[in-house]
Amino acid sequence: MRGCNDTDAKRAVISGLAESSVLVRSEPVRGYVLWWRLTLWLAMTLLAYVAFAGRYPMAWPVALFGVMVTLVWPLLRALPASAGDDLQARDDAASPPDLSIPLATLLEISLDLLTVTALVHVTGGFQSAFAPLYFLIVLETFALLGPRQAICMAAVAALLNLVHFRLGVTPQAAALYGVATGTLLLSAALVLWTQCGTLNPVRRSTLLKQRTLEVLEEELAESHAALEHLKSNYRELAQISREQKAQLDRLTIAEQLYTVSATMAVADGNASEACAHLLRIVADRMEAGGAALWMVDTHTDVLRVQALEGRVAPTLRDETCNSVTALTPADLRAWCEERLLTASPIAETTSPEAMPVVVVLLRDPADGERAGTIMGAVGICDPRGAARFTVADAERLQTIAHPLAVALTNAAQRGGLQRRVRELSLLYELSRLVQSSTDLDQLYQAIITQIQQVIPYENATLFLLDRARKRLEPKATQGRVVNLLDHIAFEKGAGLSGWVAARGKQIVIPDLQKEPNLLNVEMIPPRVRSFISMPLRVQNNVVGVINLSHSRPNAFSPEDVQLLTILAAQAAITIERTEVFHTMELLAITDGLTQIYNHRYFHRRLEDEIKRGRRYKTVHTLLMVDIDRFKAINDRFGHTTGDAILRDLAALLRRSVRETEIVARYGGEEFAIILTQTDLEQGMIAAERVRASVEAQTFTTVDGQPLSLTVSIGVAAFPRHARNASDLLEQADRALYTAKREGRNRVCVATPATS
Ligand code: GH3
Ligand code: MG
Ligand code: MG
Repeated sequence: MRGCNDTDAKRAVISGLAESSVLVRSEPVRGYVLWWRLTLWLAMTLLAYVAFAGRYPMAWPVALFGVMVTLVWPLLRALPASAGDDLQARDDAASPPDLSIPLATLLEISLDLLTVTALVHVTGGFQSAFAPLYFLIVLETFALLGPRQAICMAAVAALLNLVHFRLGVTPQAAALYGVATGTLLLSAALVLWTQCGTLNPVRRSTLLKQRTLEVLEEELAESHAALEHLKSNYRELAQISREQKAQLDRLTIAEQLYTVSATMAVADGNASEACAHLLRIVADRMEAGGAALWMVDTHTDVLRVQALEGRVAPTLRDETCNSVTALTPADLRAWCEERLLTASPIAETTSPEAMPVVVVLLRDPADGERAGTIMGAVGICDPRGAARFTVADAERLQTIAHPLAVALTNAAQRGGLQRRVRELSLLYELSRLVQSSTDLDQLYQAIITQIQQVIPYENATLFLLDRARKRLEPKATQGRVVNLLDHIAFEKGAGLSGWVAARGKQIVIPDLQKEPNLLNVEMIPPRVRSFISMPLRVQNNVVGVINLSHSRPNAFSPEDVQLLTILAAQAAITIERTEVFHTMELLAITDGLTQIYNHRYFHRRLEDEIKRGRRYKTVHTLLMVDIDRFKAINDRFGHTTGDAILRDLAALLRRSVRETEIVARYGGEEFAIILTQTDLEQGMIAAERVRASVEAQTFTTVDGQPLSLTVSIGVAAFPRHARNASDLLEQADRALYTAKREGRNRVCVATPATS
C-alpha cells in the first residue's frame, strides 16, 4: 500500500511540476480573497460615497460595481471545467497537465482591474486617492495565481498608470509613478527572463527536465532506501530459508531413518543389519567416505563397534572401550575420533577450522531412568569432494544424532520383539511336534532344524542319554559333519558333552582357538571357532546335550545362548514326552509276560500284510505254534516255571526267525509267526527249523532242573490256503490241530483251498 501511495505522490509531483508556471492557489486561499475583496469594495463604495461623492459623483457607483463583481464571483465559479476551471484538472492526477491560466480567475482579476481603473479614472486619474488599489490587484493576482502572474499584473498596472499619467499629472505623482513603474517593469523583465514558463517551451522543457531530475534523484534515493530495505528483507528471508532447508533436511533424514528402522526386517534378532543400513544412510547424507557406529553394551558397560561403512570398514580395528560410564562424554568422543583417525587417511589441511573426522555421541531417547545416557556414538570421516568437514557439517551430524538414536532404539526394540515372536512360534512348533511325530528320529532332526531358524549355526548335534548304557548317543546332526563331538558316543562324565551331561551345565566357547586348555585340541577341526554345548534337562534329570558350532568366532551372542537355554528346556520336555508316548504305544502292542507282540498287534499286522500281499502280489506264510502238553508242565513244576518257560520260548522263537518277521503270543501257550514275503516251501523250512530248535533247547525250571519241550506247528500260506486273514488263521489252526492229532512235535500244512 505504501508503494502505491508513493507512486501517487510521485505522479502528483510530476503533475505539479507541469503546473509550476501557473501556481493555482487552494480553495481556502480563494475563500479568503473573496471575503477580503468584498469587504474592500464595500469600504471603497462607502468611502467614495462619503468622501468623494461631491467631487467625483461616479466614484461610488464604480466602487459598487466592484461589490457586484465580487458577489457575481460564485456564479463564475459555476462555469464548466472546460471553460477554464482548473480544480478538476488539478485533482485528476492522471490527466495531462493544464498549463492555461484558469479563465474564471483571470476574468475575476480582470473585472477587479477594470473596476479599479474606472474608479481611479473617475476620481482624478493618476493623482486619485484610489490609485494604490492597483497594488491590491497585484496582491490579489499573487494570492490567486502566483508571483510571476503578480509581476505581470504589476506591469499592466504600471502601464495603466502611465495612461492615467498622460491624462493628467502632478510632478510629484509623476516621480512616484515613475519609480514604482520602473521597479515593477524591471521586476517583470527579470521574472520574464528567469521564469516565463508559460510562454517559452524551451525554458519550460529545461525546467521540466530539472524538476524531473530532482524528482528522479529523490526517487532514486527512495529506491535506494527501498533497495536497502529489500536487501535486509532478503537477508532475513535467506536466513529463514536456510533454517527451513536445514529443518527439512533434518526431517527428511529423520523420516528416512525412522522408515528404515520401522520397516527393515530385523532377521538376526539383534538388528545389526538395520544398524548397518541406518549408518549407510547417515554416511550418504553427510557425503562421508567412511562412517562408524559404536554402541554401548549396558550389561558390560563396554563400547564396541556395531557397524562400519565405506573406507573405514576394512581398517577400523575391532577395539572396545571399557567402563564407559566412568568416562566423560568428551573423553569418549576423543576415543572414537582417535579410532577413526587411525583408520582413515588424513587429507591435507585446507583451513584450521576444518575437521578430518566428526564424532557425535548418541543419547538414549527413551523415557525412564536411562533417558539421556550415552547409548553410542556415530562418526564420519574422509568426506567426498571436500578435504575436511566444516563446523556446519558437525552441526548437521549433531542434528541427525537424535533421530538416529530413536531409529536405533526402534530397530533394537523391533529386533527384540521379532525374536520373541520367533521364540514363541518355535516353542509352539516344538510342542506341536510331540503330537505329530511318530518317528523319534524325525523328531530329533526336526528339533535341530527348528533351532537353526533362530540361532544361525553351521553345525548342530543332538545327543541323548542312553540310560541303560549310561552313554550319550548322537541322534541327529545338521549341517556339515564336524568331527568334533558328534560322531563319538561319550561316556557320561567324560569328554566335553559328557562333562555337560554330568553337571547339567552349559559350556559356551566364543573362540575355540583361544581356549586350548579346555579340550583335546587335535579333535577340533580348524574351521570350528564358536561352540555351545547345552544340556537337555527335564527338571533335574539330564536327558541329552545339544552342541552348536560355527566357523566364525563370537558367532553366538548372549541372547542366542539365552534362547538356546529356553529351547533346550522345551526340547528336553518334548523328547521326554515323545519317548513316554512311544513307550506307552509299545506297551500297548507288547505282551507283558514274553515281551513280544501281543494278540491285538498280531491281528493288525496280519491284516496289513494280507492287504499288502494282495496289492503287491506277494506271498506270506503263517505259523501257529503250540507247546505240547504244557498243562502237565504247569501242573508238575508250577506256574512260575510255566511263565519262565513261556518267556524263554518266546525269546527262542524271536531268535529263530528273521528280525523283520512278526512273532506274537497268540494266547496262553500258543504263538503265531508271520513270515512276510515267504512262500509255503520256505515257510515249511522255517517251521521245521523252529520246531527243531525248540526240541534241541534245554529249558530250566525255577529250581534249576533241566527240562525239554516240544512244539507242534500248523502252517498255512497266503494266498495258497486262504484269501483273507481269518481264513488263513483258521487254516493254520486246523493244521496245528492235525499236528497234535498226529502225535505232536511236528509240522503240518493246511490243506490247499478248494477254489
Ligand atoms: P496239547 O499238547 O494238547 O496242547 O496239551 P496242552 O496241555 O498244552 O493243552 P491245553 O490247552 O490243555 O493246556 C494249555 C495249558 O497252558 C493250560 C494252562 O495251564 C497253560 N497256560 C496257558 N497260559 C499260561 C500262562 O500264561 N502261564 C502258564 N504258566 N501257563 C499257561
Ligand atoms: Mg494250546
Ligand atoms: Mg498246548
